[in-house]
Amino acid sequence: MWKFLQLALFLFCRIKEKNKLDFKTVIEPFRIKSIETIKFTTRSQRILAIEAAGYNLFQVKAEDVLIDLLSDSGTGAMSTEQWAGMMRGDESYAGAKSFYRFEESVREVTGYKHILPAHQGRAAERTLFKCTINHGDIVPNNTNFTTTRGQIELRGAKAFDLPISEGTKPSVIHPFKGNIDLEKLRKLLSGNRSKVPLVMVTITNNSLGGQPVSMANIRSTREICREFNVPLFLDACRFAENAWFIKMREEGYSDKSPSEIAKEFFSYCDGCTMSAKKDGMVNIGGFIALNDDQLAVKCKNELIINEGFPTYGGLAGYDLEALAVGIKEALDEDYLRYRIKSMAYFGEKLISAGIPIVQPTGGHGIFIDAGKMMSHLPAEEYPAFSLALALYIEGGVRSIGSCTQFSKGHDSYGHAPELELVRLAFPRRVYTQSHVDYLSEVIIYVNLIRKQIAGMKIQPGYEHPGILAGRFEPIGGKLIRD
Ligand SMILES: *Cc1c(COP(=O)(O)O)cnc(C)c1O
Repeated sequence: MWKFLQLALFLFCRIKEKNKLDFKTVIEPFRIKSIETIKFTTRSQRILAIEAAGYNLFQVKAEDVLIDLLSDSGTGAMSTEQWAGMMRGDESYAGAKSFYRFEESVREVTGYKHILPAHQGRAAERTLFKCTINHGDIVPNNTNFTTTRGQIELRGAKAFDLPISEGTKPSVIHPFKGNIDLEKLRKLLSGNRSKVPLVMVTITNNSLGGQPVSMANIRSTREICREFNVPLFLDACRFAENAWFIKMREEGYSDKSPSEIAKEFFSYCDGCTMSAKKDGMVNIGGFIALNDDQLAVKCKNELIINEGFPTYGGLAGYDLEALAVGIKEALDEDYLRYRIKSMAYFGEKLISAGIPIVQPTGGHGIFIDAGKMMSHLPAEEYPAFSLALALYIEGGVRSIGSCTQFSKGHDSYGHAPELELVRLAFPRRVYTQSHVDYLSEVIIYVNLIRKQIAGMKIQPGYEHPGILAGRFEPIGGKLIRD
């Protein structure tokens, strides 16, 4: 009887406890210990700043930006535990304690045998591709990120994007818009098996809106790869956010933890490349993780020449410590709930104001469909670019406007259909709900005056530097007409 009462009391408390946590507002699961002030500028100061920068947001000084959503890469805030880890950093050239802590942590998360540090994602890609890809090869991916495509093309190979068709339609709702098109993958492998050294799947699919890939899709991709005997690698930059979407949206996963889910998808693959500047929660870092012993030896040799000895790979001991802690924090449920909910919260505000965005909202940012919002501008006048500039002038907000024009004329073989998107990528654990409220106000205002926003053209003599270093000017001389 006593036992029964005890059990009843326990269950009662559990239920009560659960209810207590059922409030609607999802709060930031941290408090702020150290702050960084942001500088307020006036509209006319921002006009001067953007003119000086050749109307290129990459050339604007960060201190002249109020809310900086240029990238979620390496821009996050570290935790007290990560900073404490940094003090423990062992800077020995070889075999530092920090390396072994990093190795153990990444191995625990991914389950892979060999863990090779690299200074960031593209270095991991370059190292792996140098050891796997030959001239004339083809690498399929749900969508190759720009650096991935770049590293593949540097090897004289072709990068193929095979997203499902829903993935390229901003307003189409689908729970896993990041999925790779299995039929297209099978067809490509049937015709070109000897040319495909590996298949990649990017989780989440950054280029098409931070959209997740389902467990079922990864599992089926693995089956196809087995059938054709091709290794499968994940571009795992946002693996934790992807795990959360699987937990929320895929049948059979709601009771699993993000780390169990991550272990499962890693187990279907032969390895991964990772930019730890994303879900590694660090300002710099990356790695390759893989099971193949021989490939690991090759990659280590390559690493020594280009990145550093394989127990530091272009990183300081303290960077490895921060990564060892950060990659686990990224899997924390309270953190992921807040992270994904803040994007959904922002998205809901914009959708209810009639702003066209990529739906459903993804993991690391909001993507405005500028092709639609700025339909008064043809693609040749860089509508997404113009919109990003207007957001800066009106609200001090920095984002990236894609320029589909830039890849025109390039060898665009295998490119996913490109969209005119403005990406507002959110640094991890940096901005709060009031920042999001402010951002929504800015975007809603700019939407009202959108017809007054002019298109852009390249300044004469700057046709080649591209989006990062180019100089531009508004057609007609003024970006926002009165
Ligand atoms: C950021 C990123 C990379 C490259 O990583 P860096 O750390 O920037 O070199 C590769 N793939 C995806 C999907 C990314 O988002």
